[in-house]
Amino acid sequence: MSEIIKTDVVIVGAGPAGLFAVFELGLLDIKCHLVDILPKAGGQCSELYPEKPIYDIPGYPIVTGQGLVDHLLKQIEPFHPTFHFGEMVEGLKAVGTPEAPLFHLRMSGDAILEAKAVIVAAGGGSFQPKKPPIEGIEAYEGKSVFYAVRKMEDFRGRHVVIVGGGDSALDWTLNLQPIVKRLTLIHRRDDFRAAPHSVKAMRDLVANGQIDLHIGQVSSLRGEAGELSSLAVKGADGSVTDLACERLIPFFGLTMKLGPVSEWGLNLHENLVPVDTERFETNIPGVFAIGDINSYPGKLKLILCGFHEGALAAQRIYHYVFPDKRLTFQYTTSSSNLQKKLGVV
Ligand code: FAD
Repeated sequence: MSEIIKTDVVIVGAGPAGLFAVFELGLLDIKCHLVDILPKAGGQCSELYPEKPIYDIPGYPIVTGQGLVDHLLKQIEPFHPTFHFGEMVEGLKAVGTPEAPLFHLRMSGDAILEAKAVIVAAGGGSFQPKKPPIEGIEAYEGKSVFYAVRKMEDFRGRHVVIVGGGDSALDWTLNLQPIVKRLTLIHRRDDFRAAPHSVKAMRDLVANGQIDLHIGQVSSLRGEAGELSSLAVKGADGSVTDLACERLIPFFGLTMKLGPVSEWGLNLHENLVPVDTERFETNIPGVFAIGDINSYPGKLKLILCGFHEGALAAQRIYHYVFPDKRLTFQYTTSSSNLQKKLGVV
């Protein structure tokens, strides 16, 4: 039996829209859990353009993608949201009634979140790893081939091969090297996109004989019952080298896919979830959609639109969470009640 974690609202996606929704819900005393397949908050802002400046966030003449996410995280601190990173929301099941909705959301780790309302803030979909074109790799996935490092201990004392030339490949090369039996880094060319200081640290390890670097591409895998024992690397000159390998971690970047959202019974129009513009509620009462994932006449895929949508969805969600209470509109500037929640008085 899976563990059931109860909360008021589950937000699927910790991009800017999901993060700001925590603030609007928090002002209304609504507790929430956020789930994101990525290992950190920020959605597209952190994953796709952390260092690029954004110029159209109200009140910020200029802020970088990561800078905005950092401010959003600071802003929601008073409400202590619970984050579940590295988890995909796979299933959404309505277990209540349209008048008193209740939902069970199954995460990839198998825990179930129970909530009175759900906000789907899934953006362009879930970020998923691009897989390398190696025949038969599926048979090893989850056993000896991993697309992310969830627990470093899983790699201790193993022959580990990392493939890639970006920041993830280099960061994990440097972090895992001290605990593995032997680490090999493979990249198709001797030119790395990662931060220069990481590239230098990696080259120092190679020069000191602490890791191996191979320029080429993994051409085949060998092993039994999902457990890798070795792999072959094909060099640019056509030569093939066999390497011991118990754990393979390819970092080929991420791609956005709608993923499980399409299986939850939500109406979809061109991979987007239609909502009304009063509440941003979907065809399933109690399930809301905000940010890039939703569609309505005039929709703009802008961060500021996601903020507005979260504020209005929160007003409706209040009535699902507190069916017997009246909601009074208040300003943060003048309401001592709201200021107390924010911890500023
Ligand atoms: P996202 O940021 O896409 O976040 C959604 C999150 O949901 C993701 O982290 C994803 O992993 C997660 N997720 C999805 N499905 C699941 C699931 N089933 N389980 C777990 N997690 C899931 N907008 C502006 O307003 N101004 C700009 O200047 C601007 N510049 C941009 C520049 C670039 C290069 C790009 C790519 C976009 C830009 N945008 C800009 C658009 C802006 O980034 C998006 O509008 C915004 O990120 C949408 O926020 P979101 O929270 O709806 O979704």
